Amino acid sequence: MGIENVLKRKSGVIVGDDVHALFKYAHEKNFAIPAINVTSSSTVVAALEAARDKKSPIILQTSNGGAAYFAGKGVSNTDQFAAIQGAIAAAHYIRAIAPAYGIPVVLHSDHCAKKLLPWYDGMLKADEEYFAKNGEPLFSSHMLDLSEESDEDNIATCVKYFTRQSKMNQFLEMEIGVTGGEEDGVNNEHVSKEELFTSPERVYEVYKALSPISPNFSIAASFGNTHGVYKAGNVVLSPEILLEHQQYVNEKIGAPKDAKTLFLVFHGGSGSTVKEFHDAIDNGIVKVNMDTEMQYAYLTGIRDYVLNKKDYIMSTVGNPEGDDKPNKKFFDPRVWVREGEKTMYKRVEEALECFHAVDVL
Ligand SMILES: [Zn+2]
Repeated sequence: MGIENVLKRKSGVIVGDDVHALFKYAHEKNFAIPAINVTSSSTVVAALEAARDKKSPIILQTSNGGAAYFAGKGVSNTDQFAAIQGAIAAAHYIRAIAPAYGIPVVLHSDHCAKKLLPWYDGMLKADEEYFAKNGEPLFSSHMLDLSEESDEDNIATCVKYFTRQSKMNQFLEMEIGVTGGEEDGVNNEHVSKEELFTSPERVYEVYKALSPISPNFSIAASFGNTHGVYKAGNVVLSPEILLEHQQYVNEKIGAPKDAKTLFLVFHGGSGSTVKEFHDAIDNGIVKVNMDTEMQYAYLTGIRDYVLNKKDYIMSTVGNPEGDDKPNKKFFDPRVWVREGEKTMYKRVEEALECFHAVDVL
C-alpha cells in the first residue's frame, strides 16, 4: 500500500492528475516531498539515488539560473536563450534517466518573476510541442512568482498562464506574499512584515481565481520563511498561519473545518527546525524547496576530498608514495565529483526522513 496505488505512472516523470494524486496522498499521510534544485546531471542523480534508496517520490526543479547553467555558462542568455534551452535539456535528461531509478518524479521549474516571463514562455512553448506529440507536457509543473507585483496583477497573470497550462493538465505553483532573503539574484531582504506573512484573505483570493480553472495548483504563501541560511533567531516562522489559510478557505467554500483544501509550498526551508517542518506539514505543506543546503552539502564532499588528497592531485604523475606514481585514479572526475554526490545524497536522505517521506511508495 502506498503512492504506487494512486498513480497511473509509477516510475519516471509523472504529469497531470498523477501530480495531484501524489500531493493528495501526501496530505492524507502527512508528509511532504523535498524539491531539489538541480544544475547538472550529477546533482540530478544524487537526488534520484537518495529518493530511490529511501523509497520516496522526489521533485526535481531548475531555477532560472540553474537552467542556464544546465545549458552551459558559455551559451548566451540574451532573451533567456540559455535558460530556455537549459531547462528543456534538463527536462529531457531527467525524463530519460528517471525511470532507471524506479520512482515517481515531479519535474518542475522554480521561481519565475515578471522580468523572467520570456523564460516561462519558452518553456511553455516546449511543453506545448511535447504535448502535441506525446499527449502530455514536457514539465509536470512550473512556478510563477509574481509576488513582487500587486495581488491584482499577480492573480491575473496566474489566471492567464494557468488557463493555457490547464489545456495540458499541467500543474501550477504560484506565490503570494514574499519569501524573504535572497535567491537567484532577487533580493527580498528589506520587504515589510506584512509581505512576509500572507493573510488568509489574500490566499482565498488566489483560490477563488484558480480553482474554477483546474484543481492542479499549489500556493507558496509566506509565513515568515526566508531563502538562504540565516543565523538562528533571525527569522520567526509561523507555520500556524498555514492552518488559518486552510480554515478560512474551508469556511468560505463550506468544506469541513479540518480539510486540507490547499496544497501549500514551503520556500526557504534551509535552517528551519524539525518542529517547524512538522507543523508546516500538519497544516498542508506538500512540497519543501531545498536549494541552499543542497549546494553546501554537494560542496562538502568535494571540499574534503580535495583537502585530504591534496598531495595526489598536484600533478598527473607523482605523489607521496613515489615520484613515478600515477594520479589518474585521484583526478578522474568520476572520483571527486562522486564525493559531492555522496554528501548531497546524505542531505536528501535527511530531508526525506525529516519530512516523513520515507517508505511511502
Ligand atoms: Zn523559493
